[in-house]
Amino acid sequence: MPNRCSTAPSVGTPAERAPRLPLHALASLRALAALLICLLPTPSWALWRDRTEAIMGTRIYVEVWSDDEAKGDEAISAVMAEMTRIDELMSHYKPESQLSQINARAAQEPVKVDRELFDLIKRSLYFSQITEGAFDITYASVGHLYDFPAHVHPTETQIKSALPAVNYHNLLLDPEHLTVRFEHQGMRIDLGGIGKGYAVDRGIDILKARGIQHAVVTAGGDTRIIGDHMGRPWVVGIRHPDDKNKVVTRIPLIDTAMSTSGDYERYFDEKGVRYHHIIDPHTGHSASKVRSATILGPTATETDGMSKTAFVLGPEKALEIINRMPQYDAVFVCPDGRVLYSNGLQPPQKAASGADQSAPAKTAGAKAGP
Ligand code: ADP
Ligand code: MG
Repeated sequence: MPNRCSTAPSVGTPAERAPRLPLHALASLRALAALLICLLPTPSWALWRDRTEAIMGTRIYVEVWSDDEAKGDEAISAVMAEMTRIDELMSHYKPESQLSQINARAAQEPVKVDRELFDLIKRSLYFSQITEGAFDITYASVGHLYDFPAHVHPTETQIKSALPAVNYHNLLLDPEHLTVRFEHQGMRIDLGGIGKGYAVDRGIDILKARGIQHAVVTAGGDTRIIGDHMGRPWVVGIRHPDDKNKVVTRIPLIDTAMSTSGDYERYFDEKGVRYHHIIDPHTGHSASKVRSATILGPTATETDGMSKTAFVLGPEKALEIINRMPQYDAVFVCPDGRVLYSNGLQPPQKAASGADQSAPAKTAGAKAGP
């Protein structure tokens, strides 16, 4: 199970989406911490550095604890450069990317790709298997017919003719030659559902290789934390689906990845229907069985790959899958407002009795904090 804390002695952090202390208290804490650090005889100076950039069509946030300002900044720059590199390799928006080459040619011939991309596609197939096809990068065969900023969705006829191309079994990988082949005309893939998690993990690898031991890297809904924040857990809030200023629960985290998918990220409403960016590969429609799904786990590639499941399979089925896998935990916000928690986030007696897994947001369970 990922490293979650059973109590929540948290401080606010810039990465925190739901500060638990008033800002002035935060400022005083920080001032006090800075003062204490200054008073230490050796090694004298360490500080938090952070930066936000727009890469991969999303907000990238990196914060590191470094005993050298320049080294901290260089480490952040290296993470940003890595995100740009991954975007150039894997973006389906960039015609020159290897991923776009696959989409352009793989229905005609095997397309050779770098091992890194090959391995991530292979990993995607693994997540298709363990989520019973809820996660399926071939969803893009129908997904490309949506344009959320332009409020465009496909007609039923368009969906019907595109849907047969959605099937991860028709994605053929040749590990010897590192090629990708589509067994069906009209197929497309897109790594939007796992690429940001992967990029976050790569960012963390880079920071660790530079000796950084306390950091947070976020790309869109995907975050990974290493170490703690001044001796205390980082506290991350899960936002209310209809109000970005409200939280449904807060979770203290150390050395954990966390991905949240929500129907409020990229969407438009039309005639009472919400069209949003998580697509049910079985129907070609936006998947609406939860409003948001948060997965906790060891790496962001994994939590990203798992965070679409509940939208497609429903929260009960998704909890069944998550509860079978001790390395993951989950929080789902249902359309009727219920908040469901996996066993690892339940108060101990509740988990032991296997009782009803729904819980009001304010009694999030021992591990999720007050
Ligand atoms: P974020 O982009 O913030 O990481 P998510 O992790 O929720 O958001 O991923 C949403 C993206 O996943 C979509 O924009 C799309 O690219 C991709 N996607 C949508 N439906 C599926 C699906 N059923 N299987 C795999 N990927 C999907
Ligand atoms: Mg994601």
